[in-house]
Amino acid sequence: MVIVGRLAPTPSGHLHLGNAVAFVGAWLSARAAGGRLLLRVEDVDLERARPDVEAAHREDLAWLGLDWDAEVLRQSSRSYAEALATLAPHTYRCTCTRAQIRDTGGVYQGTCRAAGHTEGAIRFRLPDGPVVVHDRARGEVVVEPARTLGDPVLVRRDGVVAYPLAVVADDVRDGVTEVVRGADLLEVTAVQLPVWAALGRAPPTWLHTPLVLGADGRKLSKSHGSTELRALRAAGWTPSDVWRQVSPWLGIDAVDRPEEAVAAFAAAAVPPGPFTAP
Ligand code: GLU
Ligand code: ZN
Repeated sequence: MVIVGRLAPTPSGHLHLGNAVAFVGAWLSARAAGGRLLLRVEDVDLERARPDVEAAHREDLAWLGLDWDAEVLRQSSRSYAEALATLAPHTYRCTCTRAQIRDTGGVYQGTCRAAGHTEGAIRFRLPDGPVVVHDRARGEVVVEPARTLGDPVLVRRDGVVAYPLAVVADDVRDGVTEVVRGADLLEVTAVQLPVWAALGRAPPTWLHTPLVLGADGRKLSKSHGSTELRALRAAGWTPSDVWRQVSPWLGIDAVDRPEEAVAAFAAAAVPPGPFTAP
């Protein structure tokens, strides 16, 4: 079986070291297996397209020495009607407002599951109880997304397709066999597994790369501008410096070139993290 992986950047902000470890991990996993790697622009639920950020992502990925075999259409130009039709028996309409959900503790309680609304957001009915995520490094991770996240929105009230529908439908359509992404999406994986099952498809394999925290102990975000690849580059970092920084976060002795990392990569050796950015 040919391994198919993907780089799936969301062009909402510049890539930082936390994104880098996920993208390097996805690239290494596909390359080490002699697989194919796709680039997919995850712009489906962005309020505003950011072509400048998207171009910067490509530049940053290329600067790191990451390449891809095929460019996939951007999400915003794809149709999700077919996947939605297949999922219909597992969905229901929800008219709850953000404020109402906040009042019930911030986790959607499935309030509209039996209401029979004919308009509103489209939600996916998660199975009750635990979902087991088989992670290539962490082993079996038990998550209870119905309790911690609640039924996900597949299509927003305004008709915009949401990430949990888009990403699974895309991975199905693109023939993706392995997903490598940040550990911040572990619970999301547990939400997506039942969606894969409802689409009647065998899920891909999963590998969650360690979270990278800022000096303040928080997950890297736009507020940690100094860890953006562009900022590091402006501060004199070379691609080799980035490789030396991120390779140990993927369970590899510090190496300074992509080819060396490919030879040394083993999914099972990827540590759980988290790590702190310099
Ligand atoms: N687009 C997501 C991100 O940039 C990644 C989604 C995924 O890998 O499934 O965080
Ligand atoms: Zn509702």
